[in-house]
Amino acid sequence: MRLKDKVTLITGSGSGIGKSSAHYFAREGATVIINDLDEQKGQETVREIAELGGEAVFIHADVTHPESVKAMVDEALGQFGRIDVLFNNAGISGVGAIHEIEPDAWDRVISVNIRGVFLPCKYVLPSMMERRSGNIINMSSCIAEIGLARRASYSATKGAVLALTKSMQVDYAPYNIRVNALLPGTILTPFVENYLKTSYDDPEEAIESLKKRQLSGDLGRPEDVAQAAVFLASDESKFMMGSPLYIDGGVVFGKNA
Ligand code: NAD
Repeated sequence: MRLKDKVTLITGSGSGIGKSSAHYFAREGATVIINDLDEQKGQETVREIAELGGEAVFIHADVTHPESVKAMVDEALGQFGRIDVLFNNAGISGVGAIHEIEPDAWDRVISVNIRGVFLPCKYVLPSMMERRSGNIINMSSCIAEIGLARRASYSATKGAVLALTKSMQVDYAPYNIRVNALLPGTILTPFVENYLKTSYDDPEEAIESLKKRQLSGDLGRPEDVAQAAVFLASDESKFMMGSPLYIDGGVVFGKNA
């Protein structure tokens, strides 16, 4: 039980990496607050965790809306008295080179992926500062470190989240709050399946070429990232502060010559 009794809020945990993380956190003894825009998917995660004997509740919120996020945080604090771990996982994809992207599509990706990290932090931090204890995990991506074709808006957001993580760590270290970032490579989730379908004529062929990008020769799975998130949330990583943690099959530092 590496996260026993740690009250953890995971945004976007109705699907993919967030959902898998919710399962791993609950298995390690955390009380998990499941958040998602999609209530049905969020409730499904809660049901699955309850069936396995874990503790989870669902709180609906759109991470881009201040009132909605504040209400979620107030409800969580009212119910559990504290939030020990905030995992800012919710995010959306954005495809296209700059000249192809419509301004509204650009704004949506920026809003979900950056404002959607800022707002939960803004409303959770005062309670962590008061308790002089807290742990924040921000979802970046290895795309913050490498150039990939037609991912302009998405890469801008994930680079921003990495930079934000480092600044936040400096601001909140005096309050005994750690802030770290996850940088996954390509992880097979509904997010990537959708991206493959909308961006390629032949998604199967695309997946084979994506696999070659990894030194591992395969894509990652949600549990690969979930287990890294458990590590960052646990005291095992207590000397990690403002750090990027790569879970990318070697994409950033290796070379598939
Ligand atoms: P996913 O689409 O499977 O899950 C994302 C969840 O976020 C969905 O359930 C969605 O409903 C929710 N969400 C979207 N907008 C929201 C909003 N405004 N408010 C609340 N919830 C919202 O995606 P995933 O692949 O599990 O990705 C999770 C995170 O990991 C994202 O931030 C993504 O950018 C990042 N990431 C994914 C990969 C990958 O290859 N899958 C790689 C690197 C980083």
